[in-house]
Amino acid sequence: MPHAADQPDFPAREAARAPTVPRLDARLTHCRACPRLVAWREQVGREGRRAYAGWDYWARPVPGFGPEDAALLVVGLAPAAHGGNRTGRMFTGDRSGDVLYAALHGIGLASQAGATHRDDGLRLHGVRVTAPVHCAPPANKPTPGERDTCRPWLAGELRLLRPTVRALVVLGAFGWQAVLPALAAAGWTVPRPRPAFAHGARITLPATDGGPDLELFGCYHVSQRNTFTGRLTPAMLTDVLSRAAGAAGLR
Ligand code: SF4
Repeated sequence: MPHAADQPDFPAREAARAPTVPRLDARLTHCRACPRLVAWREQVGREGRRAYAGWDYWARPVPGFGPEDAALLVVGLAPAAHGGNRTGRMFTGDRSGDVLYAALHGIGLASQAGATHRDDGLRLHGVRVTAPVHCAPPANKPTPGERDTCRPWLAGELRLLRPTVRALVVLGAFGWQAVLPALAAAGWTVPRPRPAFAHGARITLPATDGGPDLELFGCYHVSQRNTFTGRLTPAMLTDVLSRAAGAAGLR
């Protein structure tokens, strides 16, 4: 019998038994385990924003986007209220996504530079984009409890991608903190003490079962705060993504 979607253990129970990435994505979109985030994502969906008048907001958890046999995984923070929470696809419909997909397109991993809505034709090649928190949080700030409640979805996604994924880029310190325990849960050895986030960091994580290593890269988040101020330039982003793509065997 399906477990109640508003219970805190819904993510752990559903993610652990999902047999494929599409099935995991489908279950994820029903999750209501974080009351504050459910209320916020739905309130934003009801109220909208004048610039998006007429949009039927997604207002649900946003699953990862990209092939289920990706060699490279890009992990952000959480969907934006009027970006992914509006369009229903990761990094789609906001400035952060414009920067990310332009960089992926520039190195041949995305079919186009723009990402405006779910049916805009964008295809990713060998790369998948996801987040440690799948619902839009107020002020882009999930609580540590919400991060931990959502972690099984990412751990499950990593488990299912494990046969093919060889490199992972984490965008920002929040994602870095969230992804390390998920990587350990999915079967890679995370050093102790845990490595600190840094832009340009590269760490090799051996598999606990003798399987292929995972190359972990750190990159500043593609937030407007970072890209407008020049803290993260397109060249810096392209450099990290290129190195990660190379480590994943995509270039
Ligand atoms: Fe579920 Fe994650 Fe959304 Fe919380 S943030 S309701 S765990 S999908």
